[in-house]
Amino acid sequence: MIFLVGSGPGDPGLFTVKGVRCMERADAVVYDRLAPEALLRYAKPGAERVYVGKKPGEPTMRQKEINERLVDLGRSGKTVVRLKGGDPYVFGRGGEEALALIEAGLPFEVVPGVTSGIAAPAYAGIPVTHRGVATSVAFVTGHEDPAKGHQDVDWTRLANGADTLVLYMGVGRLAEISTSLISAGKSLNTPVAVVRWGTLPEQRTITGTLRDIAERVAEAGLKPPAITIVGEVAALREAGLDWYERRPLFGRRIVVTRARAQAGELSGELEALGAEAVEFPTIEIAPPEDFGPLDGAIQALDSFDWLVFTSVNGVDAFVERLVHHGMDLRAVPRGARIAAIGPATAERIEALGLRVDVVPAEYRAESLLEEITSDSLAGKRVLIPRAKVAREVLPERLREAGAEVVVPPAYESVPSSEGRKDVARRLEAGEVDCVTFTASSTVENFVRAFGEEEAVRLLDDTRVICIGPITADTARERGIRVDAEAREYTISGLVEAVVDLLAADPVERGDP
Ligand code: SAH
Repeated sequence: MIFLVGSGPGDPGLFTVKGVRCMERADAVVYDRLAPEALLRYAKPGAERVYVGKKPGEPTMRQKEINERLVDLGRSGKTVVRLKGGDPYVFGRGGEEALALIEAGLPFEVVPGVTSGIAAPAYAGIPVTHRGVATSVAFVTGHEDPAKGHQDVDWTRLANGADTLVLYMGVGRLAEISTSLISAGKSLNTPVAVVRWGTLPEQRTITGTLRDIAERVAEAGLKPPAITIVGEVAALREAGLDWYERRPLFGRRIVVTRARAQAGELSGELEALGAEAVEFPTIEIAPPEDFGPLDGAIQALDSFDWLVFTSVNGVDAFVERLVHHGMDLRAVPRGARIAAIGPATAERIEALGLRVDVVPAEYRAESLLEEITSDSLAGKRVLIPRAKVAREVLPERLREAGAEVVVPPAYESVPSSEGRKDVARRLEAGEVDCVTFTASSTVENFVRAFGEEEAVRLLDDTRVICIGPITADTARERGIRVDAEAREYTISGLVEAVVDLLAADPVERGDP
């Protein structure tokens, strides 16, 4: 079976549920330049990935090769997804591919996608129809196949035939198109908007009228891919409908330096506010070199009065190890009290169905200590499963208070240099608005990835935000200037600090 699947216009969230199901089944995915690469994560691990992207201007011969490729894959008995930008049947040549499959006697299905001609205007604040303003809309190609040698698009008929014209392609032909529409009777003052990379963090919109849009687009250096909307609806954007570009972090590029497994939460929050998150996982979570101490503590779990968790990773690693030994949370002693260093850690524990007895008001070791030591600790046994290398304040002070403290390494944060070059290039080019550090270890690993001098130099031209005072101190010790710290030492607190800091600075960036 071959599925012709529309990928939507770019925002991965606009992919259809049916599209996801097809991707999960496919043995091979044949995809285009405009199909978002992010969607490939839905493919099975072993699925074949075939890129058949066309660059503008390449001879049309390529389509024949794509058809042949699809037929070959189909004949080999594979389940194939042909992933096409936007909707497969809207200027996507999906119809030609379907006909080729029929001719080869192969079964196919079509999964429509959100077409860029509707999505890009929507994200730019333009409803393609609007009561009292536009009662009809036409989808038009602005790009004629140069091989055809004659014009298929009847601009005269279009100028008078539909209230809104949505032009695909043809950014480079705006001058000719405007002239044709004006001579066909459209007013010089008809509003026009051109939306490049609609629905993506790079979205950019240029507005004008039929009289000046070509000039404005040329001045801005706007290149394809873009959708052009001609008609009164294009002016509605000015009424405040451009919600996407108004989000607080729209157009911002922010580097996230957490371990890959955890970066998601921070990236997700930043993206929800309009930013493009560049994940640079400086650390990776790995098992400790030696499970001996943790295993010993788990065997003697009954003897502990307190279980103290200082990170989400600590919780996960501890539970994983229990499971590894064929045990579960019933092994946690009945009377034991449980403490978490901060709300995220507490949330993870509570998600397991365990109640957390103590979460300090301020999320750092010192505060946790105050809360725990308000109970008498003399002779009490405390277990802290945590990172192999971590700050010693907590265990030391608990010992001073008379407790017997066991601190087995449950996991290790190891440096990762994945993405190093890409991040360096973007920092160098001034494309990054801010770099976030969520723990001292992320600072140290960033410095390790580039070398101290180079790290300081790379961060010189951007803004640096830390999750809290300890992380910020580590950064300053390394010579890194810190522009802001979160008031609340959590991911949301950090995001708030990013918004506050960047709000003071208007976005200034050339054409992406
Ligand atoms: N089948 C696609 C269109 C393919 S033709 C669809 O339904 O959207 C390629 C043209 O689509 C580009 O030249 C551009 O005009 C438009 N396009 C595709 N993705 C776009 C995006 N994210 N933003 C603006 N225009 C886009």
